[in-house]
Order: sequence, then structure tokens, then C-alpha cells
Amino acid sequence: MLTKLILAIMPKLPQSFIWKFSKKYIVGKTLDKALEVSKSMNDDGYIITIDLLGEFIKDRSEAEQTKEDYLEIVEALHKHNIKGGISVKPTFFGLLIDEELCFTNIREVVRKANEYNIFVRIDMEDSSCTDRELEIYEKLHVEFPGIVGIVLQAYLHRTYDDIERLQKIHTTENPINIRLCKGIYIEDKSIAYQSYEDINNNFIKLLDKLFEIRAYVGIATHDKNLVKAAYELLEKHEVSKSLYEFQMLYGVETRLRKRIHNQGHLMKVYLPFGKDWFGYCVRRLQENPNMVSDIIKSIFK
Ligand SMILES: Cc1cc2nc3c(=O)[nH]c(=O)nc-3n(C[C@H](O)[C@H](O)[C@H](O)COP(=O)(O)OP(=O)(O)OC[C@H]3O[C@@H](n4cnc5c(N)ncnc54)[C@H](O)[C@@H]3O)c2cc1C
Repeated sequence: MLTKLILAIMPKLPQSFIWKFSKKYIVGKTLDKALEVSKSMNDDGYIITIDLLGEFIKDRSEAEQTKEDYLEIVEALHKHNIKGGISVKPTFFGLLIDEELCFTNIREVVRKANEYNIFVRIDMEDSSCTDRELEIYEKLHVEFPGIVGIVLQAYLHRTYDDIERLQKIHTTENPINIRLCKGIYIEDKSIAYQSYEDINNNFIKLLDKLFEIRAYVGIATHDKNLVKAAYELLEKHEVSKSLYEFQMLYGVETRLRKRIHNQGHLMKVYLPFGKDWFGYCVRRLQENPNMVSDIIKSIFK
């Protein structure tokens, strides 16, 4: 009841109030702040991926701006010698306006990143984008070996088939690079698992398959049960350290993050930043009402 009420009034609440709990998960509003946090993460032994907040734009000029902003981020990562890369959302580059425009824009960013050997992850958005985002990845994976990766979502029924599809571009010299996560969007039960158990079982099945084919895997979860299962699969497949990393979102389950890092595994932290933090937080909360508990906690703190 309280959750529903908070979700309904959220867009009307003052931004300063929303910022109070959002700042735990958003590194800041400016690139300078994102670089500062990146450096301190690197100093603590983590690698990073920077995400400029924004998605589902409606205007071609916004897509152009996204490209320019990401080119600036790539230059800055290089200049400041940051260990890590960037994550991009194709709808922020105009996927829903013009697929060709989106591809050209992302390709330009990847070309620049490739000059500096900076890794680019294509985030996965809702299921209406899955095929198109896989196609973008397939093309860039072949053109820029070792520089680009994609995300697969364990809640989708189709994902095992998507791995088989991606095996066509997978080689030992240029392995496919997959971030495996549960998936954050609300999807219909006809195409997506809904329960915790079903999603986790599929996550483990997919991870098993990815390790078996020697893909590079970013194990993106804060779920202790999945981390434990991942450890078992790493041992089962004797996965080399050069073929996997763990990944977590900034501000989430930091104790678990430290533990995994201290146990000798590479850990990449996802750092969202940007002036669109408000819209991003409201959308995420509407998609994932479980996170409202954080707001409630912050109200009573
Ligand atoms: C690095 C990274 C990149 C991602 N990229 C994508 C993507 O491209 N596309 C996509 O659809 N999804 C993406 N996700 C989100 C992912 O799909 C899940 O929705 C999210 O990670 C929660 O799943 P979980 O495996 O952590 O397990 P859960 O069982 O959901 O969570 C485990 C624990 O972590 C806490 N937790 C998890 N997420 C959050 C959060 N955001 N804020 C506060 N607490 C949280 C939970 O409260 C719980 O205690 C990404 C996640 C990570 C870690």
C-alpha cells in the first residue's frame, strides 16, 4: 500500500528529496564527479564501467548529443588513465527513432574507444529491443574484436537460444563477451520467467553454457545464491581468470562486493552518472517497486 502510494507520488516529489536516497546509487551529476569516483574505485582495486544516464529519447538531435557526450567520456577515461570502460543504451543513441542512425552513432563511439583500447558494453533494454541490440553487437564484435560486449537477461525464455545464435560469431581468438544479469524490465509471463527460483535456475543454466563454450562472462548479480553458484561453476569448468569478472551496481551490496574482490576475483562496478538522474530513478523505481523499500528506509532514518 505504502509502496503504491510512494510510486504514484514519486514524480511530484521535490528532486532534492529524491536525491537523498538516489545519491547512494548515482555517482553524481557531472563527468568530473564520475571520474573522481572512478579513480577512487580503481585505487580500491575495482575496474569500472561508466553509464551516462538517459534512454528512450525521441529526437534525432538528442541522439547526436549522446554520441558527443560519450566521445567526451571516452577521451576523459583515456586522459585520466582510468581502468575500465563505458556502458551504452542503444535507445539513448536513437534506436527507436532510426536504427541506422543509432548504429552509426554507437559505431563512432566504439571506433574512438578502440583507438584507446577502452571497452564498450551494450546494455540490454526491454524485449522490444532485444533483436536489434543483438544485431548491433554482432556487427561491432566482428569489426572491433575484443572491444565490445552485450548483455543477456536470464529472465527471458529466449536467452539460451540467443547464446546459440551468438556462438556463430564466437571464436577462441575473439570470444563473445556477455554480461549475464537477471533483467530489470517488466516483461510478460509469456516470454519471461517471473519467480525468483525460475530466474535463478535459468541464470545458472546460462552461466553453465557460457563457461562451457569459453565465452568471456561478466557475472552481474548481487544475489549471494548466484554468487555461490557461480563459484561452483567456475571450479567445475576450471575457468581461467582471463575469461570472467563479477559486476555490481554502484552502491549496492558493497560488503558482498568487497568479499568477492578480496577472494581474488576481478570486480567491475557500474557507475551511472548524469543530469538525467531524476528521470532514471523514477523509471527504475516504477519498474522495480522492490527498491521503494530503500526510500521508505531513508524516510525513517
Ligand atoms: C553491473 C550490472 C549491469 C546491469 N545491466 C543490466 C542491463 O543491461 N539490462 C538489464 O535488464 N538489467 C541490468 N542489470 C540489472 C539486473 O538485471 C537486475 O535487475 C539487478 O541486478 C538485480 O538482480 P540481482 O541479480 O542483483 O538479484 P536480486 O535478487 O534482485 O538482488 C539481490 C540483492 O541485491 C539488492 N539489489 C539488487 N539490485 C538493486 C538495486 N538496483 N538497488 C538496490 N538494491 C539492489 C536486492 O535488494 C537484494 O538484496 C544490471 C545489473 C548489474 C549488477
